[in-house]
Amino acid sequence: MAGWDLKYGPIKEFYINDDRIWSLFNYVFSDSCRKRNTYKYGLIKSLLDSLFSGKKTGMGIFYTYEELFARFTENYWNLVIKYDLRQMRPDGNSRLSKIETILKRAATSNGILSTLEFSAIDKIERNKIVQLVTADCKKYVVGALYADFDGYIYAFDLNAEGLTLSYCFYEFMLKYKAELERLNYYSWAKFLEKVNQDNLVVRVIEKLELATPRRSDLSVYREILRKEFEENTCFYCGRKLKDNVHVDHFIPWSFVKDDKLWNFVLSCPTCNERKNNRVPSKEYLLQINNRNKILQKSHDIVILSDFESYTDGLLDSMWEYAKRSGIKEFNW
Ligand SMILES: [Zn+2]
Repeated sequence: MAGWDLKYGPIKEFYINDDRIWSLFNYVFSDSCRKRNTYKYGLIKSLLDSLFSGKKTGMGIFYTYEELFARFTENYWNLVIKYDLRQMRPDGNSRLSKIETILKRAATSNGILSTLEFSAIDKIERNKIVQLVTADCKKYVVGALYADFDGYIYAFDLNAEGLTLSYCFYEFMLKYKAELERLNYYSWAKFLEKVNQDNLVVRVIEKLELATPRRSDLSVYREILRKEFEENTCFYCGRKLKDNVHVDHFIPWSFVKDDKLWNFVLSCPTCNERKNNRVPSKEYLLQINNRNKILQKSHDIVILSDFESYTDGLLDSMWEYAKRSGIKEFNW
């Protein structure tokens, strides 16, 4: 199926089994699936990174183009501007893809920009860049990826606000998140090795992984949990929290790659540091599920928006899947 010029597409079938989904992903990661540039890998990465930022609908999980392509832009900013990795096979006319051109133009229009993290760029400037990238992605990648997945992965309409991931793909991507991330990086890296000079491709996988920016400032979550919900003891050891309060990702960030209130707990520095990149033992699941039932009753708009993709049982599945992906359990 050609597809880059499609304007909309429905989900062809709402339920297909894991084996068929694997075969579709393996096709998309393979060399048989045509790619002039890396946009398809970029969109798969944005979908994986945004998995918990969607909104449940009757058909599936809805993601706005704005959200997906803001992440896409930020990842490409790091790859193109920070690490100088080319993203397209030269085609005689050009050596740069449209998105690389947009980003390089933005970076050179103002000398300071090229030295900044994407999130540090002035908001108006940043939005302008995201809009240009979004327009290009809508034109060249949304329909193309849909067609590569034979119309099973999502429904989209370029005139609407976003796309709707089918439930069975959502479940699948949650279950095999770590595996899909690795396969996507591997195929992306293979592509990059072909179009970049050798000296630039050193540690290319590491650069792809580092392209997802990790937020350092979690104070807003600390404020919500501490002030609004009066959480004043360490979630893990129960000791009273003093001045140095850590915000801990219950399921490690390395699996979730996102910051959502339902996955945050407050902890003392000792527990946070000892737990490190591990999941807590199973009895804490009940405790966090109960805590989240309380948070969900809030009317605060920030809290509600974090809970839009949350369901009872989500953390239980994530706990299983994180362990399956190789993350160890930590016992106190
Ligand atoms: Zn503690």
